[in-house]
Amino acid sequence: MDRETKLDICTKCNSTHVKTYTLPYYVENLHGIRIGINDCVIKTACYLCKEEVISIPDINGLVSAAAVARIMHTTKLNGSEIKFLRKAIKLPSKDFAKIMGIRPETVSRWEGSGEQQIGYSEEKIFRILVGNKLKNELQEGDKAPAVEYDYMTIIKMVINPIRPSGNAPLLKFARVKMKLKNQKIQDIWDESEFKAA
Ligand SMILES: [Zn+2]
Repeated sequence: MDRETKLDICTKCNSTHVKTYTLPYYVENLHGIRIGINDCVIKTACYLCKEEVISIPDINGLVSAAAVARIMHTTKLNGSEIKFLRKAIKLPSKDFAKIMGIRPETVSRWEGSGEQQIGYSEEKIFRILVGNKLKNELQEGDKAPAVEYDYMTIIKMVINPIRPSGNAPLLKFARVKMKLKNQKIQDIWDESEFKAA
């Protein structure tokens, strides 16, 4: 499955005896949320010192795409996902507390792994806050153009509680070519369902 694409230099020992290839599937733990990536993560392996380097294109774009995909997913957010989403919109926790009308300590508890979880209606407000920030074409531009967002879907959403033994959902992405308004065709992150792990 591995395709050798080009020769490079080892970042550790400067050897040219390296192999660079694209991984068909790779799971990344991106600040606490699991993301499956199809066919675009590049691995460079050195034959001499055995150093391996993983390279993921457009990480910022991936964070935004994963955030939007996650808020449209019905599984209840766990603490690390709340933190991931808050950071994806660069919202300091004290500002988050202010918006939600809660104490900063409550944000820490929501983002921790303890007992106190975010309430269902508060979670919906938070999801919409994240969605509007990342998908706002007028202000900052659409940061996840290939991932669908609709606030009404979130308002009407029946959020599924996390099963005690269950994990947070694995979100899968691939690079697709897309022509955006007034721009050239470019590679962007899109959700994908093929090639399950
Ligand atoms: Zn090396």
